[in-house]
Amino acid sequence: MLNSFSRLTNEQLLEILSFSAEAAAIYISEDLEIQYANDAMLRIWGREKTVIGKALEHAVSEIKHQRFAALLQHVWRTGKIYEAKEAPVSIQVDGEVRTSYFDFRYLPILDENGQTYCILHTAREVTELHFQQKTIEEGEQREFILIKQLAAINEELGAANEDLETINEELSASNEELNNLNNLLSESQAQLKEIIEQAPIGICVFRGKEMLIEVVNDVILKIWGRTREEVEGKPHFIARPELKDQIVLKWLDQVYETGVGRNNEELRILLHSPEEGLREAYVNSIYQPIKNTKGETTGIIVILQEITEQVKTKREHHLIQDMLNRAIEAAELGTFDFNPATGKFTGNDQLKSWFGLNPDDQVDLSLATATIDKQDRPRVEKAIRQALDYESGGNYEIDYTIIHPENGSVRTVRAKGKASFDENRRPIRLNGTVQDITERKRDEQRKNDFIGIVSHELKTPLTSVKAFLQLIHQRAEKEGKQFYHQISEKALVQTGKMHSLINGFLDVTRFDSGKIHLHKEWFNLTELIDEEVEAHKMHSPHHQIIFENTVAIPLYADREKISQVISNLIGNAVKYSPNGNRIEISCHHTDDTITTSVRDNGIGINERDLDKLFERFYRVTGADTKFISGFGIGLYLSSELIKSHHGKIWVESEPGQGSIFYFSLPANP
Ligand code: ADP
Repeated sequence: MLNSFSRLTNEQLLEILSFSAEAAAIYISEDLEIQYANDAMLRIWGREKTVIGKALEHAVSEIKHQRFAALLQHVWRTGKIYEAKEAPVSIQVDGEVRTSYFDFRYLPILDENGQTYCILHTAREVTELHFQQKTIEEGEQREFILIKQLAAINEELGAANEDLETINEELSASNEELNNLNNLLSESQAQLKEIIEQAPIGICVFRGKEMLIEVVNDVILKIWGRTREEVEGKPHFIARPELKDQIVLKWLDQVYETGVGRNNEELRILLHSPEEGLREAYVNSIYQPIKNTKGETTGIIVILQEITEQVKTKREHHLIQDMLNRAIEAAELGTFDFNPATGKFTGNDQLKSWFGLNPDDQVDLSLATATIDKQDRPRVEKAIRQALDYESGGNYEIDYTIIHPENGSVRTVRAKGKASFDENRRPIRLNGTVQDITERKRDEQRKNDFIGIVSHELKTPLTSVKAFLQLIHQRAEKEGKQFYHQISEKALVQTGKMHSLINGFLDVTRFDSGKIHLHKEWFNLTELIDEEVEAHKMHSPHHQIIFENTVAIPLYADREKISQVISNLIGNAVKYSPNGNRIEISCHHTDDTITTSVRDNGIGINERDLDKLFERFYRVTGADTKFISGFGIGLYLSSELIKSHHGKIWVESEPGQGSIFYFSLPANP
């Protein structure tokens, strides 16, 4: 470096420096004597060229208290370069101290011994740059603060955001809940609508004071006699003008005003009918106010059930009941109702009066039983027990005598009733009527007495007539008088018939007075039937009477009475088979019972008569039987005789097809 330096003269070098835009000065001693300063440096210092040759501190006195001189001297002593950037320097320029900023360098130039022999001081003003920088820095600072603030704000925002997010999450959760609730609501609304629609009862919903018809189901539309289009969405009183002047509109208004519901039972109302215009109907209805959360009424729900048919049926039933009551009163019938479960026994006023009670008094079974004649009591109790037995069919029919507990008057009554049973065949009720048959019984008694007397009176002369006829019959035979023999024989047959008829009447009277006595013995039923068949064959040559049983059937009974029964059945089979000619008799024997049947293919019997055949004096009246003589006592006597043997008698028959009469007797009495 010194080599190239030595090729240029000092003056040349300084000249070069003077062209440099960069300020430059050279100090040549430790005291900082200014050797050289170019124009640029002089401008910085605000000095003239006169400063050349002066020590720096003297030349630019204001730097005295700044550290530059010390720095320069340090560079001089150490031989080490010193550089500074944007260093502030206060210099008096044009009488005013100004602080400017410089990048400067103190470059020591050393000799071969390493000793400083001058310092090249270069400087470049960077005040503007400095301030720009500062402005930038300040701007940056502000920016930084702003950024910081922004960050803080951001953070806050973030926090707020987080809050918002939480709120959002909560909101979306509650939104979801709301949605779910909404779904549930619309589901339950749909369900409610479905329920209302499917309900077997009429339902509608009115909204608001004007009662807009919001919901109606088909059932209510049917009751109203209206179509959906006619009523839906319209005010009730407009949609159903038929209600004008009917009380229900007023009641609905009242429910809306007061918020208090209302029930109507069996309400008579005039409803619209597409066919008749107006129709009378009966309804049960409920008006229920619908309220909001504040308890204010916002609508009414109406539940409607039409019961016109039921009401009419009930009224008809009452009418029938009234008629029945009047008939019962007119017939002077007593009625009774017995509940076997509670033992409660009730009766109408008529019945009570017979038992010596006032209308308000309670009848009870023990009191009623106590009023029955002692002799009849076991029979009545047995009849009740039997009726309450499911197997018996529940029928109750019995005649008995009651004795008034106060005045002792005697009355004969006929009780008829029927028991009803539950699904377990347990009796629930026994009810029926009681009829006063005292007079009828007396009449019958008189008739019986008369028949008894007449029969008795007839029997003696008839026995004589029979004896005389037998005498004639025997004499005619002996003397060979054919004509008298035949005539007397026919007369004997007729007297025989009369005899058995009179005997029958006498038996009837004996039954009534309980004077029939059984003489039981062991005998062979087959043999008895054979005898009867033979006897009837003789008198009925046109009929084929068949009995094919040959096995002996031992029976313990009253032989004569049983023969009477068989004779009566065969006689009837012949009598009521004018065209049929085959009569079959058979016997069926089990361990317990012996059943005998008599079958014919005669006129048969109508179903309505079957039950009554065994009643006293009962005869079937009709074209077929018109010319067949009889008194209607044969089957009655047969039935009484079989019953007195603890047996059963019954018939199966069809008109035109013939009949089968059966009787069964216990095999082991
Ligand atoms: P009667 O024969 O004297 O009239 P019954 O007491 O023997 O009296 O019979 C009662 C009624 O039953 C008869 O009037 C008759 O109408 C009917 N009846 C009895 N047996 C027969 C029969 N085998 N076929 C058709 N009807 C009969």
